[in-house]
Amino acid sequence: MHVAVIGAGLAGLSAAHYLCAGGAEVSIFEREVEVGLMTSSRNGSLLHPSMVEPWNEPGVLGTLLRNLGNSDAAMLLRLHALPGLIGWGMRFVRESSSKRFHANTLANVALARHSLALMKTLGDEGVQYHAYRRGSLVVLRSAEALAKARQWREWLAPHGVPFSLLSRDELVALEPALAPIAGELIGATHQRDDEGGDPQRFAEALAATLQARGVTLHLGQAIERITLNSGRVSGLQLADGSQPRFDAVVLAAAAWSAPLAATAGLSVPVKPVKGYSLTLPRQGADGTDRAPRTPVVDPSLHMAVIPVGDDRVRVAGTAEFTGFDLSIRPERVANLTRLVTQLYPQYMAALPANAAEPWTGLRPMSPDGVALIGATRVPGLYLNTGQGHTGWTVAAASGQLLACAVLNQSASIDARPYSPRRFAGL
Ligand SMILES: Cc1cc2nc3c(=O)[nH]c(=O)nc-3n(C[C@H](O)[C@H](O)[C@H](O)COP(=O)(O)OP(=O)(O)OC[C@H]3O[C@@H](n4cnc5c(N)ncnc54)[C@H](O)[C@@H]3O)c2cc1C
Repeated sequence: MHVAVIGAGLAGLSAAHYLCAGGAEVSIFEREVEVGLMTSSRNGSLLHPSMVEPWNEPGVLGTLLRNLGNSDAAMLLRLHALPGLIGWGMRFVRESSSKRFHANTLANVALARHSLALMKTLGDEGVQYHAYRRGSLVVLRSAEALAKARQWREWLAPHGVPFSLLSRDELVALEPALAPIAGELIGATHQRDDEGGDPQRFAEALAATLQARGVTLHLGQAIERITLNSGRVSGLQLADGSQPRFDAVVLAAAAWSAPLAATAGLSVPVKPVKGYSLTLPRQGADGTDRAPRTPVVDPSLHMAVIPVGDDRVRVAGTAEFTGFDLSIRPERVANLTRLVTQLYPQYMAALPANAAEPWTGLRPMSPDGVALIGATRVPGLYLNTGQGHTGWTVAAASGQLLACAVLNQSASIDARPYSPRRFAGL
């Protein structure tokens, strides 16, 4: 069976890995000139089964409406994007009921936990990505925040997401870089099973192993449309006009999957949600390293700070509904810089001027916050997208589930919550 995978980000490469392991002949098509250059490059770099809840938590509509026009808001809806979001947005709001939110969270937890187990195997097989296992810290600034966090963590824990409550002293002992602002914190939750690493390095390492196993990687090749014959997928049409034939096509092109699927008559409900990151050096101008060693999330600042490799720190945050817009807005960068300075004033003060490298990416978001993995109603056309803010955390398990669907093999976890067929018309 010859399978074409569109997109060489974390979703496409992981799918290709398990398709190849299952015996398929695989060709990957990527319009960029390197793998993992888009959403999968400078993301938050955290593998976080503890934080995979969808972003449409109960009350999300009120939050979005209150934030309209506030360009510093963590979750922001830009008015120009509104017309393109109407149908998707109605489902997004419907899925924010308490019952749906909790069910969707558990679907994501199951995928994430399975994925981290698969990542260990990938690491043993030589896919190296600066992995480290120190968990993640969510810092808490008030008794009210602590009570809320504790209630949520106690609900999640029986589902395989262990945590510890840390006092302020225990927190600073674990992460001394927080000592300068310890007086503002009352403690933290420590999600012991979360992990860190370098997603772009992971993508590159996975691509190298795929090529060594005979997977063909077509870089700089944009796909224009999916070709059909009697209603069944027959192959692809490339931008150069060529039409290679395939037995099956996997769309793993993040939010760009939607316009591509439309060429086969499908309406895929995945929208781009823009986020920013800053990449900072660990070392200050004086040569000292005051940077954090453990990933820290500050919910009151809506921001995560994660060590990457030996020499960098990544700061990630913000969610903007603004269409396929990859421009870097100075005011968003300034806001993120201000927030990270509130959390790590000494580290930030020691950095050389203009040390921060800003980046932006478009999370492929489904309206229920759960990925779309598997067959569509068009025979031969499969989806692996919609992983949203969890795309690295769930990449390996998503790829494995996708391969099971294409190769008609039984999966290790229940595949039904991720089926694209839960959406009308797919
Ligand atoms: C700020 C930010 C922080 C994040 N932090 C985390 C985190 O800490 N942990 C986590 O798990 N997730 C995180 N995410 C989410 C994660 O990065 C994404 O879910 C994931 O990268 C999506 O992978 P992908 O392969 O679907 O998309 P991409 O990496 O974007 O890959 C899709 C590929 O398809 C290609 N493509 C598109 N159209 C075509 C075409 N017509 N022809 C050929 N190729 C095409 C694109 O060029 C692209 O390379 C974060 C995202 C952002 C934006």
